Amino acid sequence: MLKRHPWDVVIIGAGVVGAACAYHAARAGLSVAVVDRGPVAGGTTGAGEGNLLVSDKEAGPELDLALLSARLWRELAAALPQEIEYEAKGGLVVAPDGASLQALRSFAEGQRKAGVEAAEAGARDLRALEPHLAPGLAGGFHYPQDAQVHPAQAAARLLAASGAALHLGEEVTAVLRDAAGAVRGVRTTRREISAPAVVNAAGTWAGSVADLAGVRLPVLPRRGFVLVTEPLPRVVRHKVYAADYIADVASGSAALQSSAVVEGTPSGPVLIGATRERVGFDRGLSAEALRRLAAQAAALFPVLADVRVIRAYHGFRPYLPDHLPAIGPDPRVPGLLHACGHEGAGIGLAPATGLLIAAALTGSRPPLDPSPFVPARFDRPAAVRSEGPRP
Ligand SMILES: Cc1cc2nc3c(=O)[nH]c(=O)nc-3n(C[C@H](O)[C@H](O)[C@H](O)COP(=O)(O)OP(=O)(O)OC[C@H]3O[C@@H](n4cnc5c(N)ncnc54)[C@H](O)[C@@H]3O)c2cc1C
Repeated sequence: MLKRHPWDVVIIGAGVVGAACAYHAARAGLSVAVVDRGPVAGGTTGAGEGNLLVSDKEAGPELDLALLSARLWRELAAALPQEIEYEAKGGLVVAPDGASLQALRSFAEGQRKAGVEAAEAGARDLRALEPHLAPGLAGGFHYPQDAQVHPAQAAARLLAASGAALHLGEEVTAVLRDAAGAVRGVRTTRREISAPAVVNAAGTWAGSVADLAGVRLPVLPRRGFVLVTEPLPRVVRHKVYAADYIADVASGSAALQSSAVVEGTPSGPVLIGATRERVGFDRGLSAEALRRLAAQAAALFPVLADVRVIRAYHGFRPYLPDHLPAIGPDPRVPGLLHACGHEGAGIGLAPATGLLIAAALTGSRPPLDPSPFVPARFDRPAAVRSEGPRP
């Protein structure tokens, strides 16, 4: 029998999330087309750092997604070319004083119950794990499941492995619907692509794509800057950050927040990221953001005080008001699915997102409970996560 549509699914967005959706949909036996108005990883993925963190997430749905993704990234590292630069280096969260260490202890306790490995490190252990750390820290926690990947390479390699048809440099200008209102494909600046399912993986711009389909999804940009140092020998071994980073991530404030995450890379430069602020799509350089990052990194690793920064870059995280991504079918438009709004964790969370989308597309059992990520939840009042005490 002739198929009505040439493709089973068309995915809007060739960032790491769209790429992971393409990969898992193809592995589930579906034929896939991917459309992006720019190049692969030309959106926020190209501005991310590549931290795959479980350490910064409190017990709950996002952590469950991160734990599943951590396992999937390990499997992908074996299946994809080494250019994705997967490194299972582990994370180290440090506490400047006893109160902050105590807060980390109770945070880790909740995480352990959810399946996270977290080992307390005393002040002396910290020096053994990271010899260049500043003296005088009270202690910290070592998270062996934290890892790192090269975001743009990961997106490109996932897409290549999916075998999806790629339409780059084509903007989606309409989501096509049939007489019953169900999705029947997309129109781009060059053609119509017909498919019974459309996945909105448009990252920070996913709200505009949702608009094209006639539904609301309140994705906002949350800007972040990253500093890149000159190449160095390995002075930083883990992903290292101070305890207050966790509160910054969870905060819904629009104001500038910064708590440096410091990490070495295989090619030598140290990455110092990242700030958080909601200033729309303002691409202006913020000297204050860069100054704060540099000062915090040097406070953690005094050796960095005399190192040159060779560049800084920025990107816009896809922020949803409850800090959870939107993943799954949209009940308001049959055939429309969303995979977006991962904020500062989209690289880490991409594989589990792809697996959830593939399960929804094929009607198979989801790998975890998808209900916290239901895209239409913002139609309900007060869909904002309450922020309890965190370190
Ligand atoms: C400074 C910074 C540091 C970060 N560090 C980390 C980190 O260490 N770890 C982590 O997990 N996450 C990190 N993030 C977050 C992470 O980068 C994002 O969550 C992730 O890249 C989102 O991926 P995506 O595929 O959803 O979006 P994107 O990569 O933005 O992809 C969306 C794509 O959709 C395309 N698009 C949009 N509209 C249309 C249209 N109408 N038609 C066609 N194409 C369209 C865009 O061109 C874009 O390529 C960081 C972000 C920033 C800004």
